[in-house]
Amino acid sequence: GPAAGHDLLAALDPEQRAAAAAPLGPVCILAGAGTGKTRTITHRIAHMVADRGVAPDQILAVSFTTRAAGELRGRLRAMGVPGVQARTFHSSALRQLQYFWPTVAGGPLPRLESSRIPTMARAAARLGLRTDRTELRDLTAEVEWAKVSLVTPEDYARLAAAAGRETTMTAATIGRLYGAYEETKREAGVLDLEDLLLLTAAMIEEHGFVAGEIRSRYRHFVVDEYQDVNMLQQRVLDAWLGDRDSLCVVGDPHQTIYSFAGASPRYLLEFPRRHPQATVVRLVRDYRSTPQVVALANRLVGAGPRAALVAAAPAGPAPVWLECDTEADEATAVTSRIRTLIARGLPASQIAVLYRTNAQSEAYESALGAAGIACLLRGGEKFFARPEVRKATGLLRAAVRSADTDRPLGLADAVADVLGALQWYPHTAAVGTGAERERWENLAALHRLAEDLAARDPAAGLGDFVDELADRATHEHLPTVEGVTLSTLHAAKGLEWDAVFLVGLTEGTLPLVHARSAEQIEEERRLLYVGITRARTQLVLSWSLARTQGASRVRRPSRFLDELRPARRGFGGAAGSSGSRGGGGATGRDASADPGGERSPGSDGMGGAPGSGGPGDAARTRTRGRSAVRCRVCGQSLTGASARVGR
Ligand code: ATP
Ligand code: MG
Repeated sequence: GPAAGHDLLAALDPEQRAAAAAPLGPVCILAGAGTGKTRTITHRIAHMVADRGVAPDQILAVSFTTRAAGELRGRLRAMGVPGVQARTFHSSALRQLQYFWPTVAGGPLPRLESSRIPTMARAAARLGLRTDRTELRDLTAEVEWAKVSLVTPEDYARLAAAAGRETTMTAATIGRLYGAYEETKREAGVLDLEDLLLLTAAMIEEHGFVAGEIRSRYRHFVVDEYQDVNMLQQRVLDAWLGDRDSLCVVGDPHQTIYSFAGASPRYLLEFPRRHPQATVVRLVRDYRSTPQVVALANRLVGAGPRAALVAAAPAGPAPVWLECDTEADEATAVTSRIRTLIARGLPASQIAVLYRTNAQSEAYESALGAAGIACLLRGGEKFFARPEVRKATGLLRAAVRSADTDRPLGLADAVADVLGALQWYPHTAAVGTGAERERWENLAALHRLAEDLAARDPAAGLGDFVDELADRATHEHLPTVEGVTLSTLHAAKGLEWDAVFLVGLTEGTLPLVHARSAEQIEEERRLLYVGITRARTQLVLSWSLARTQGASRVRRPSRFLDELRPARRGFGGAAGSSGSRGGGGATGRDASADPGGERSPGSDGMGGAPGSGGPGDAARTRTRGRSAVRCRVCGQSLTGASARVGR
């Protein structure tokens, strides 16, 4: 049974406890990264079940990603509280539609399309417009913005201008394309992701019996990462709630990173006004990161003394600033440090390389691959777009529809049974090389996902598995393998690792070249804030001055670096003292030098392995012994496996 209530709440600090134990009703936790927001809602849910007599299946917890939802379920189960629904908005909506749609619409739910690009291409062709793939991508993103912002094709031109949307085509043209896209989709009988939410909201709003059933089923709602909710998701949430108010939201306005896609922190910030009787809690102690990491995060968002995060963890190594000649050098230098960390006993799964755009992953995939280090890509599109994976998911969907009673009834076996049609069998060694081997590995990864789900939820069936796959594909959550995580900054939200490498910190990449307006630059700043705050102990910030060897144009380090790095002594001529903005001319090759005296031999705990390449290494002091070094800043001794300082 669930742990006694006082145990559940004892693991929290006083402010967290106030939020977790607040009466059933509106609760709002506004707090910075790593302050325990997700931990607090987990304990609140457990407390509701253990001590307030709330049935677990009356609680719907909405997380931002499938992985986050899975982690929430796992944590609750470990606390003796199984059965809570933890899902994303999309997967909750899909489930409700699948259940009610046949009754409401008198037919099966249209198929969910995995990509909107083909539909958009057909819509453009219909209007006689010539578009390339990049334009199609931008157009679908724009239509997504319009739909989550509840802007119709007819209103698009007017409202897009008012919202300051920057587009390459005229707003009138995009409005017409948006209309044609909707039309094409309707004719093909398919849905896109926003349709799932739009139809769910409409179904509840228009059908009393649907509203009644859903509202009697779910009585308490919890939303994590609420700073990134959009108008459409808020509408779904309002439809679920009706006139009730048992809603707990948590978020951090500094981590709004989807405003380009229509998300807005205003729902979070206005929550106390919208719910005057709400319990509002602010948390300031950061339990995730060392004071060194927290100091950088505070500096980046210019947090004054009242808003600043306070680190609860003991001091750790100073952040490492790594300037390289070329992108290849940067990848090599990062790989070499990763190798050292792993050699010292840090599990690869505790290391992440985070970047702004998917295109940056390639250099790291190959550098890590060449070093024999396994890596796991997040935020990419590859896995679910692979032909064998698409075939397998198609077969799984068909299997769910056929409801074949001869199928084995453990989930993993049932999935293996279906994969057999693609000549993949469990318990056989990997076959083939190259593309054939990759195909085998991908199917094996699908099977592993089924095993994971069965372990998390023994009652899960093929239908649940298909839901989870759709959800993972939507949120680009790839199957987990043990390895170094390669992820975009967006996909890293909510997660944490002992060692984090923030790479490619140049003007044009972070901030991205498209970011021009002050608001866009601020969103880039928040992305970097998210990146920095993923690190528990070790943080490396790297950049390279040229894309390739012998490039004629040199790139400038990110303007944010000028704000982050303390004033550098003894390196006259380098621009960018602490607090300055703009970064003009900051091309001084001083990154490997001691910034403001914070760096010290061994202080980064990263191991300046000889010959690890990259100019950053050349100037590094290599006085460290192999087994133990002492950090000059914190006095902490770093030995072999204890690279997890302070944990
Ligand atoms: P983010 O904004 O990045 O989502 P968060 O506010 O949700 O962060 P959590 O992920 O809940 O933060 O917590 C960050 C880390 O701190 C986790 O490892 C968590 O277990 C730990 N932690 C949180 N609160 C406490 C506490 N009271 N005591 C010890 N550890 C804590
Ligand atoms: Mg969180």
